[in-house]
Amino acid sequence: MSITINQDKCTGCRKCLAVCPGSLIKVSDTKKAFMKYPKDCWGCTSCLKECSFGAISFYLGADIGGRGSKLTTVIEEDIVHWQIEDTNGELLVIDVNRKDSNQY
Ligand code: SF4
Ligand code: SF4
Repeated sequence: MSITINQDKCTGCRKCLAVCPGSLIKVSDTKKAFMKYPKDCWGCTSCLKECSFGAISFYLGADIGGRGSKLTTVIEEDIVHWQIEDTNGELLVIDVNRKDSNQY
C-alpha cells in the first residue's frame, strides 16, 4: 500500500510533506516531492487530500479489492473529486464536499 508522485505534475508546494503523519515524503534536489519510504505508508490518504495538482496516486491493491486501480484527487475549493481509474482506464468519480465530510 503506497502512493506515487508524478514529478511532471508536482509543483513542490510541500503541502503533502506537512500532513504526512509518518514524514514519509521528501523533496528532491529538483524541488519535487517524492515518496522516500513506500513500505511505511499506511494509506491514510492525507497527502491526496492536500495535493491540488493531482500529482499523487494511491495504489489500490488486491488486499482492499482495488485490483490494481489507482486513486487520485482533483480539488476545487471545498470539493474533493476522488477519482478511481481501473486497469482498463475506466474512471469512477466520487465527489465529497469537505464541509460535509465529518457528517454521518
Ligand atoms: S502536495 Fe502535490 S504538488 Fe505539492 S509537493 Fe506534494 S505532490 Fe507536489
Ligand atoms: S497516504 Fe498517509 S501515510 Fe501514506 S504517504 Fe500519504 S500522508 Fe503519508
